[in-house]
Amino acid sequence: MYCRNCGREIDDRAVICPHCGVPVETEKAKPGTPGLCIAGFVISLFSIWLGVFLCIPSILAIVLSTMGNRWARENGFHSGLGTAGLVIGIITTVFWGLFFLAIFIASASA
Ligand SMILES: [Zn+2]
Repeated sequence: MYCRNCGREIDDRAVICPHCGVPVETEKAKPGTPGLCIAGFVISLFSIWLGVFLCIPSILAIVLSTMGNRWARENGFHSGLGTAGLVIGIITTVFWGLFFLAIFIASASA
């Protein structure tokens, strides 16, 4: 994090800024969840069923969740939903990826 007084980077656990000596106000995570995290999570849920469309929803969920998480970190928001969306997105990408691979192998050997 950055010191509010001098703006220099300091350790997240620091109580006093080592550069200027001003006590660090510990910012608690803000309530609410960024829209990008919600979007990533919702799309990841859809991707469980819509992975049929060439994993596009899964990949979209991963991208949105990653962007949402980064935004949440930089702005002091919780990113729990974004992390959930990211995990579900990766799982469905792997799942549907294997599904298409199986179809490909089956059709190639037939
Ligand atoms: Zn400082």
